[in-house]
Amino acid sequence: MKKFGIIGPGAVGTAIAYALNQSGHIVSLFGRSHSTVQFQEYNQNEQHELTVHSLQEANETVDVLFIAVKTTQLDSIIPYLNNVIHSNSVIILTQNGYGQLEKIDHPNKYQAVVYISGQKDGHHVTHFRDWTLKLPINDYTLDLQQSTQQSLLNIECLEDYAEQVWYKLIVNLGINTVTALTRQPAKVLNAIEVKTLCYNLLVEGKRVAEAEGVYFNDDLENSIMKIYDGYPDDMGTSMYYDMINNRPLETQYIQGYIYQLSQKHQLSTPHIDSTYAILSTFQ
Ligand code: NDP
Repeated sequence: MKKFGIIGPGAVGTAIAYALNQSGHIVSLFGRSHSTVQFQEYNQNEQHELTVHSLQEANETVDVLFIAVKTTQLDSIIPYLNNVIHSNSVIILTQNGYGQLEKIDHPNKYQAVVYISGQKDGHHVTHFRDWTLKLPINDYTLDLQQSTQQSLLNIECLEDYAEQVWYKLIVNLGINTVTALTRQPAKVLNAIEVKTLCYNLLVEGKRVAEAEGVYFNDDLENSIMKIYDGYPDDMGTSMYYDMINNRPLETQYIQGYIYQLSQKHQLSTPHIDSTYAILSTFQ
């Protein structure tokens, strides 16, 4: 039977650990130190306690490792990866943004496009919705899909993985940028100038995706704006919460990743360039 490990007992990592635990898999959750974390579904009373093991002191390897720390925390766990992986382990990076996989020195590594929504507060994780990880299709990811199919976790192995990556990047580019910079939740889109800025970010994000060979239909910007319109006024984004709580922002691998590619392709992306310039001062 496969052994699963998760580094990062936060919103995403604890949800993955819970989902695998529920279906009887062997799961180890690794954090900064030995502790526990409480997992709870939104609107349900039942709490589930999960044990957290110290990553630094870990000495048992796993077959599949999910890395669910924030992009800003990735460097701090890399020196300890060999405590928990062997040469045939499969590593799934479950983070927003893109480009950070290069930091991991291992042949079997894949980044998931994450659709698991939750929040960590102290030692308590609330799961709001979704259990989906979208991955490129190959023998390793299909094997992972097969071995987790009885669990709550929904692993999708996709031919159009690159499109999925860019779709999520562009969705994050718009709303994360404007909510973080204005320090306001989704209601900030009620201001027409901010809405226009957000729309222009989507237009430019799509331009960068196309330069990378990923094409969307003409309606992409409007369809994403419609999704934002459905957000409750008081809904924040992860970058908004990081900003108002003075935590490091995941700018480098979201806006920064797109900005670097825009520079590489010598594109005109003035809204991305200027908002990235300001956001990058908050690292
Ligand atoms: P959290 O902050 O909730 O969780 C990160 C966890 O990593 C925390 O428990 C943190 O510990 C732990 N951690 C940090 N540094 C270390 C370390 N050196 N050793 C061991 N553990 C460490 O983040 P999220 O789960 O929200 O986000 C993870 C990724 O998923 C991000 O890239 C995010 O953008 C993405 N994502 C998040 C979504 C969400 O709804 N939350 C949705 C989609 C994507 P501690 O608690 O002690 O700080």
